[in-house]
Amino acid sequence: NQSIGVFTSGGDAQGMNAAVRAIVRVGMYIGCKVYYIKEGYQGMVDGGNNIQEATWLSSSNMIHMGGTLIGSARCMDFRERWGRLKAAQNLIQWGITNLIAIGGDGSLTGANCFRQEWPSLVRELFDKALISKEKQAQFSHLNIVGLVGSIDNDFCGTDMTIGVDTALHRILEAVDNIMTTAVSHKRAFVLEIMGRTCGYLALAAGIACEASVIFIPEDPPAGDWRQYLCDNLMEKSKSGESRRTHIVLVAEGAVDREGNPIKCNDVQKVLSDQMKMDVRVTVLGHVQRGGNASAFDRLLGSRMGAEAVLALMDAAPTTPACVICLDGSDIVRVPLLKAVQRTRRVAELMAERKFDEVLQLRGRP
Ligand code: ATP
Repeated sequence: NQSIGVFTSGGDAQGMNAAVRAIVRVGMYIGCKVYYIKEGYQGMVDGGNNIQEATWLSSSNMIHMGGTLIGSARCMDFRERWGRLKAAQNLIQWGITNLIAIGGDGSLTGANCFRQEWPSLVRELFDKALISKEKQAQFSHLNIVGLVGSIDNDFCGTDMTIGVDTALHRILEAVDNIMTTAVSHKRAFVLEIMGRTCGYLALAAGIACEASVIFIPEDPPAGDWRQYLCDNLMEKSKSGESRRTHIVLVAEGAVDREGNPIKCNDVQKVLSDQMKMDVRVTVLGHVQRGGNASAFDRLLGSRMGAEAVLALMDAAPTTPACVICLDGSDIVRVPLLKAVQRTRRVAELMAERKFDEVLQLRGRP
């Protein structure tokens, strides 16, 4: 008869709905009440209609849908203590003692802060006579489990985040469509690929679409990238069989060794000025995180959602918060704090351009 609150936060990703559905169904199956907390942390802070009890039927017909049906938001209020105090008051009002956060590293960092701060928030609510002594005792602990929903695959500890596989499908569909014109007109195409400072999407898509050159943030070319680009394309036509087209993928966070951004328009200029190619730039943008979730993301979201509920039920007050991860083909629990700290460290190392250390740290759990 425990209560679980589930919310999605940060950028949307395909497969989040599958995770929410699994949480509702497994939670209800084992006898819990499950609540949707709509619009991420903003809904938790604002309360009211944003917190609604889930029913079996309300979680039907959503597993395939992209995005997040319960809404997501970036919430400044939750970054402030007064916002978290309001959120705590709302959770207590609804009797929610367990939370499942589905989001990126920011959302999970916020969840971790909230859990650490929880005892003092409950004390403050009691001191301000906003909750009774009984409630203070009853709600002395808040259990939190995280799931990583992000198309970027930039979270340390999990091999895949929810949404990455579908985003790859969207990119490949786009490249396949572009190839029609590219081959017909002997044109080169330069595509910008999402992923922020993580090059996973560009690299994986580049392999799968036979890209001629891929620029990713973690592995800038040695020396001048313009020379590297031209040398590579020249090498490919050495055999005498000149290709009718080239695809160049540029991750949105791609940089050279000095940390200067490599932009699609600059790549286009090099190809047309130095290689005399007919070149077009395509920025796929939000198409990459649109549309229905792939089979893999539906299964990943479902498996992670189910495990999140079981992890909450296993948690004792002293159990550290965990994040549900994919390790090979296994679903595992990884300490949330450790995973968040590693992810933050990778961001610092990227800024310092220590790429070898980044690749080491990004490894398995
Ligand atoms: P994405 O990877 O898609 O950007 P994210 O979860 O990293 O997702 P953020 O905008 O970083 O996205 O964080 C989402 C929300 O989480 C923020 O709007 C804020 O409400 C909360 N949050 C993030 N960091 C903290 C923090 N240190 N303390 C409290 N709340 C935070």
